[in-house]
Amino acid sequence: QAKSLGSNNILFFDPEEERRQYHRRQLLQAAEIGIERREFELHYQPQVNMISHQIIGVEALIRWNHPELGFLYPGDFSEALEHPNIGILIGEWVLKEALHQHTLWDISDLVVSVNIAPAHLLCKGFVQRLSDLLLTFPNVNPKALELEVLETVSLADINSAVDVVKGCCALGVHVALDDFGTGYASLSYLKKLPLNTLKIDKSFVQNILSNKEDRSIIQCIVALSQAFEYNLIAEGIESMEHEQALIDMGCHIGQGYFIARPMTADAMTDWIQLHGKNRSLH
Ligand code: C2E
Ligand code: MG
Ligand code: MG
Ligand code: MG
Repeated sequence: QAKSLGSNNILFFDPEEERRQYHRRQLLQAAEIGIERREFELHYQPQVNMISHQIIGVEALIRWNHPELGFLYPGDFSEALEHPNIGILIGEWVLKEALHQHTLWDISDLVVSVNIAPAHLLCKGFVQRLSDLLLTFPNVNPKALELEVLETVSLADINSAVDVVKGCCALGVHVALDDFGTGYASLSYLKKLPLNTLKIDKSFVQNILSNKEDRSIIQCIVALSQAFEYNLIAEGIESMEHEQALIDMGCHIGQGYFIARPMTADAMTDWIQLHGKNRSLH
């Protein structure tokens, strides 16, 4: 009987799909409550000049202390991060928290990088709300905020993405293209975007020693960043060999477990004091 209904109708009764939808609703509901209950926290990972060892910036990475499920990584709740409403609520909390933490560190030229979900970046009024938020942090130079946006914004959204990035640029906020090389950005798209930074995806870095093609891709990204005058950051540096290969190829700023793992804000404060001796903590 069921078979004769055809595959389209079977989807309707799929218990697996029902279960997924149920878990998704639960996750979204828990996330919304979690924001109010302050269950989210930001960890930070340093971005350093691998030659001078100076710290350039820190990337904020969200974690969730879920009351039942325990400590969660963004990959565990990406559906909430990417959700049109919940994702924006979380994203606005992240921006505010990162700016607040920046005022606590009080190092004017330290860059704090914040990951922005595509749905958040493209939501109506994003630039205006960012501008309003920055006004509530008069001591933070907008240049000290860098938004990491994914290259995987769908093709249909590229024109709106260009407008938003231009709007951020007009505020003085910096924009980085995250996971560069894995998405859809064409060269003509790069030409239209006032970007400040490219981030080389960790998948290329991790194969840098073993795979000739990945090395060639990195070499191209280095050349591209020099031609377009972008800052360049490599992520996923897990060994001294990775670091040396990147320096040899002309990429000087890096981020990865070999340099430091993401850590709490307090641990980051200590790390800066230990490793950032030649910058003034005023
Ligand atoms: P991403 O922005 O590309 O961040 C880099 C990820 O690589 C982080 O994972 C970081 O912990 C990890 N990582 C750093 N160094 C190394 C290394 O040497 N080796 C390896 N294997 N991994 C390394 P995490 O924290 O689990 O975040 C995963 C992704 O979740 C991020 O990728 C970002 O796309 C997203 N994300 C993180 N925080 C936020 C947030 O506040 N909002 C939004 N919308 N997305 C976020
Ligand atoms: Mg990122
Ligand atoms: Mg990345
Ligand atoms: Mg990534």
